[in-house]
Amino acid sequence: MRIGIIAYQGSFEEHALQTKRAMGTGDIVPVKTSKDMRQLDGIIIPGGESTTIGMLASKLGIIDELREQISSGLPVLGTCAGAIFLAKEASDSKVKKQQDLLKVMDITVVRNYYGRQRESFEAEVDLSEIGEEKARVVFIRSPAITKVWGNSKSLSKLNGVTIMAQEGGILATTFHPELSNTLAVHKYFLSLVKK
Ligand code: GLN
Repeated sequence: MRIGIIAYQGSFEEHALQTKRAMGTGDIVPVKTSKDMRQLDGIIIPGGESTTIGMLASKLGIIDELREQISSGLPVLGTCAGAIFLAKEASDSKVKKQQDLLKVMDITVVRNYYGRQRESFEAEVDLSEIGEEKARVVFIRSPAITKVWGNSKSLSKLNGVTIMAQEGGILATTFHPELSNTLAVHKYFLSLVKK
């Protein structure tokens, strides 16, 4: 199995480690340009700053390739900024700013939803839809998935707000499973890759 991880910024290493733990044998490929995207079985878009990820993906000419491959079935896990990048609609809770999005998933996302005073927090969340009762996970200047429509479905909510959603082979979390003590998200993503 070959899993690519977008490697511009954010928690590339932690995603690589967590993916290795969840998959056993297989290859992890850092992805920066479209030539790194050959023969991938799945791809992970980590957290960071979604405007920066979008800008770099656009400048390095990978955004169209990504969109095409995901639309034609390449499984993808987007966490935090990665979830924003996947969304068909995204807005910022404070600043109005245009940003490059992949627009492959029927979700609306509000950036920095939890505000400044709670930029980062940990919470116990319900991952029973993906095979784990409860897990403590980390949210860092996280967005919220405020609307799920069309082919997307919500897989978990925290205080009534969606924190994990799926549309076919596309999986999005607003928290950071790579910085948390659970393999459930990576294992579930790899099960989508195997399908
Ligand atoms: N707040 C960031 C954004 O809007 C996401 C934060 C993160 O990925 N940890 O892109």
